[in-house]
Amino acid sequence: MIQVRRTFKYRLYHNRRNKRLQRCLDVAGLIWNHMVALQRRTYRLSGCYIKRYEMQKHLAKLRRGSPRFAHWRLLGSQAVQELAERHDRGYQQFFAYKRGAGRRHGRPGYKKVKQYSSFTLKQAGWKYEGGNRIAIQGTTYKFSLSRPVEGEIKTVTIKRDSLGQLWICFSTVMDAPNVRVSTGNSGGFDLGLRAFLTDHEGKEYHSPQFLRAELNTIARRNRELARKQRGSNNRRKARWRLAKAHARIANKRRDAHWKLAHELCGRFDTICLETLSIDGMKRMWGRKVSDLGMAEFVEIVQQVAEKTGTQIVRVDRWLPTSKECARCGAVQEMPLSERHYDCPACGWSCSRDQNAALNVLAAGASAAGLGDVRRPLLAAVSA
Ligand SMILES: [Zn+2]
Repeated sequence: MIQVRRTFKYRLYHNRRNKRLQRCLDVAGLIWNHMVALQRRTYRLSGCYIKRYEMQKHLAKLRRGSPRFAHWRLLGSQAVQELAERHDRGYQQFFAYKRGAGRRHGRPGYKKVKQYSSFTLKQAGWKYEGGNRIAIQGTTYKFSLSRPVEGEIKTVTIKRDSLGQLWICFSTVMDAPNVRVSTGNSGGFDLGLRAFLTDHEGKEYHSPQFLRAELNTIARRNRELARKQRGSNNRRKARWRLAKAHARIANKRRDAHWKLAHELCGRFDTICLETLSIDGMKRMWGRKVSDLGMAEFVEIVQQVAEKTGTQIVRVDRWLPTSKECARCGAVQEMPLSERHYDCPACGWSCSRDQNAALNVLAAGASAAGLGDVRRPLLAAVSA
């Protein structure tokens, strides 16, 4: 039986007790910055990297023994260990990027303590009391139980968003559903800018560009913020309104992505997608890429696929999916402005994005051992 991990996120009720959690988050931020400073100083002086276990031991020693760091005890020991793990993960990604593996990643940096966003408790320090109640380090908090918690809870994360609101996230494991009503369909997709997604049948899926639509609101809120005096209450309020406008866009976009992901996983047993190079795309196309939230969408599709038993096949982005003819395999240069694929070798003609989606599907299907799907597909498409 395969197990799947899922996350359930709930909004914490507003309560005076929440101040304690806010302080815990501040402490997490302080510890983070301590690690960053220590790591950088060590590197400057000796050229060494402090490994995760050494860091954890060091933090535990300060936390237990030094009166100067007594306030760190507010945060549970496991949460502190998990912070060191995060810090190490950040550095490992940075090292991987420097080695030329992995995607672009800077070294972990300082964070504003008041904005430090989360800490995680593993086995200890929390107790789910059923319903909408959870005890964290001995204090009971209530949250808005918008849906039941499913599966066995493995970790509990307290999150603070840009609006300063608190959320509680349960990471759970459960058995993967092995009953899948097979549709017998495989889909190939091209991620693009003109149409958010194009499938191999030429159907286009458009992502609502919320940011562009609400750019005016954002610009106005930004102007209002700039006019307020530094350190004033009105400035704090203006900043909150701006954060709220950004959060609204992010929520709408995420909602649309979940819906689309469910639609696709319902229609196809196998979904073939190109691996993305978001950084490269950003350089080429600018803000629109972040607005569309492609990386986020790909992540959501993967989560939904895991839940529904859909297979996701990632196709290497170095394959010339847009340059190759889906019917005969001839390769020709395709500048970005060229919206239509016309093959000089065999006379194949279809939209650029559909041609790419067909190639992604063919590459994905052969990688997944589904055999050569090209011929029957093309027959179906041209019919
Ligand atoms: Zn051709």
